Amino acid sequence: MSDNKEVHEYQAEMQKLLDILVHSLYTEREIFLRELISNASDALSKIQFTTLTNPDILDKDATLDIKLSFDSEAKTLTIEDTGIGMTKEDLINNLGTIASSGTLKFLKEMQSNKEKAENLIGQFGVGFYSVFMVAQKVVLETRSYHLEGQGWRWSSGGSGNYELEPIEKSNRGTKITIHLNEESEEYCSEFRMENIVKKYSNYIPFPILLKDKTVNKVKALWTLSKQDITKDDYEEFYKTLSHDFKAPFLYQHLSIDAPIQYYALLFVPEEVSNDVLYARESTGVSLYAQRVFIQSENKNLLPPYLRFIRGVVDSEDLPLNVSRESIQHNALLEKIKKSLTTRLLKEFQSLSESNVEKFKTFWKTFGSFIKEGVSADFPNRERLVELLRFNSSVHDSGDELTSLPEYVSRMSEEQKEIYYVVGPSREAVLHNPNLEYFKANSLEVLFLVDHIDDFLMTDLREYKGKSFKSISQADIEGLKDKDEDKSETLSEEESKSVIDFFQEKLGDKVADVVVSKRLVGSPCSLINPKDGMSSHMEKMMQAVNKDFQLSKKNLEINMSHRIIRNMSNLLQENASNPFLEECVQQLFNSALLVEGLLDNPLELLTHMYDFMGDSTEFRLKSSESATPESAAETKE
Ligand code: ADP
Ligand code: MG
Repeated sequence: MSDNKEVHEYQAEMQKLLDILVHSLYTEREIFLRELISNASDALSKIQFTTLTNPDILDKDATLDIKLSFDSEAKTLTIEDTGIGMTKEDLINNLGTIASSGTLKFLKEMQSNKEKAENLIGQFGVGFYSVFMVAQKVVLETRSYHLEGQGWRWSSGGSGNYELEPIEKSNRGTKITIHLNEESEEYCSEFRMENIVKKYSNYIPFPILLKDKTVNKVKALWTLSKQDITKDDYEEFYKTLSHDFKAPFLYQHLSIDAPIQYYALLFVPEEVSNDVLYARESTGVSLYAQRVFIQSENKNLLPPYLRFIRGVVDSEDLPLNVSRESIQHNALLEKIKKSLTTRLLKEFQSLSESNVEKFKTFWKTFGSFIKEGVSADFPNRERLVELLRFNSSVHDSGDELTSLPEYVSRMSEEQKEIYYVVGPSREAVLHNPNLEYFKANSLEVLFLVDHIDDFLMTDLREYKGKSFKSISQADIEGLKDKDEDKSETLSEEESKSVIDFFQEKLGDKVADVVVSKRLVGSPCSLINPKDGMSSHMEKMMQAVNKDFQLSKKNLEINMSHRIIRNMSNLLQENASNPFLEECVQQLFNSALLVEGLLDNPLELLTHMYDFMGDSTEFRLKSSESATPESAAETKE
């Protein structure tokens, strides 16, 4: 036999992982058992699935289970399954390289975050190699399901290399013997093993036997009636399923009979994982047919915007011999998807009614997904729109939220449109001069401060017959003139010469200069021409395309503002006063700044220093000329 022994080197990355695992002492070392049981369970699911279509299988009628045992004398643990087994090639490919994508992610996180391994191990399955946290040596004996072929023994001390040799093995499956290291002898205990199985592997769908006793629940949780399941059961199931160490935020258990039969157990996690958020990757839902596992991370059971949902779906109506490829185009799955989507949205709706605070938390975490849905899922748009939440001008802090029905209920009879303002933050939006009119007239304005809000509004257009209107969109219809003291404003004639002057000085930097109806405390502001893009949207376009040309805007002038009134007086005195032109440029730049369109905000500072220089000199002069006598008096 020893002649046949081959020594193989580990792949470099594998070695790195081993070093991390072996040379640290982890509080969560016990998860090695979870990983090995999960592999055994996968191997059993695979053989179950293969048996459906392939008659030529070794030990066709073997019981599908996982057997655990231990030997206190020898300090060994064994875990044996009747799963699909491995050929020699499988062993080299699967156990010498990093097979699992979870393991790769684990390594990446360890390197980029420098987070403690124990925090990460719980989150990612680190796979087979976690066994080296507790083992000084591992011997794995396996035989694949193929009728021909033979058994193989793989063994390793967890560093540098592993050995392979052919062995006599008559039955299908894999048996792993773990020679515990000194620090890990505690695991040689029935009590300890049973507890670990219950903690992590209770819902593995195959019996896990310890001393001939089944220690896990086995029965698929989703097929049980709700009355027989506790909250703890659901949470534990979720943790097993997702490797999340936090309890789920929300769960929904469905048992539907018509028109299609299916069970579903769906979970909203507490947090969005980075994959889902940035890589836009779905963690997906596991698909079962008649209790047989078909596929994990199925992406056809929910629309992409619900990719943060985790869970299982199991249907009696789905044929067992459905191939993994044909799943994509399965009409039945399409129907299940439709039904799941509406039920989830209804669940969110009822949460928003029954628990406002909890829904607020949901919205903060998952609101952007709902917005994505509004744009992407036309058939469900109405339902999704009801879930939308915004901060608005009626709120005292950025923490408060309003729904569209609430906004509409506060609208006066004259108000025909729903007003909104787009900006990078509530703070920025509050300083938008275009808001002044709305504040003064108690018109509620929605604050759209999420980067996708602009697209959302473009898609939405209206709610219950009331169209959405940006407050910076030119020519807001139905705006009444401000009730104000007209004596404090310029006459029509004066206004016209101010406008002409601005137009002359700004030239083609603006589309037009007009009298403002909406400004209260600010001298001027830039307004987007009707139906143009918002400045916010334009900036985003510019970010992706450097050649994107910003559109010209209208400059609106507040004829009641003291700067403008003073300018008008100076203009009548001497229209060629160079100071006036500087005022125009400075006002225009300030308006650009408010819109976030000023390329170089520091330019504004230089101008401001000039103005302050003038202003201080002027004050000095006027105080000198005001007190010549008193100055003379004190001299005497
Ligand atoms: P993962 O399970 O995420 O793929 P692991 O490191 O846990 O990663 O396992 C690597 C691979 O080794 C598995 O994908 C599987 O192909 C193989 N494997 C591990 N344990 C078993 C087993 N008990 N029976 C059959 N194959 C196994
Ligand atoms: Mg695994």
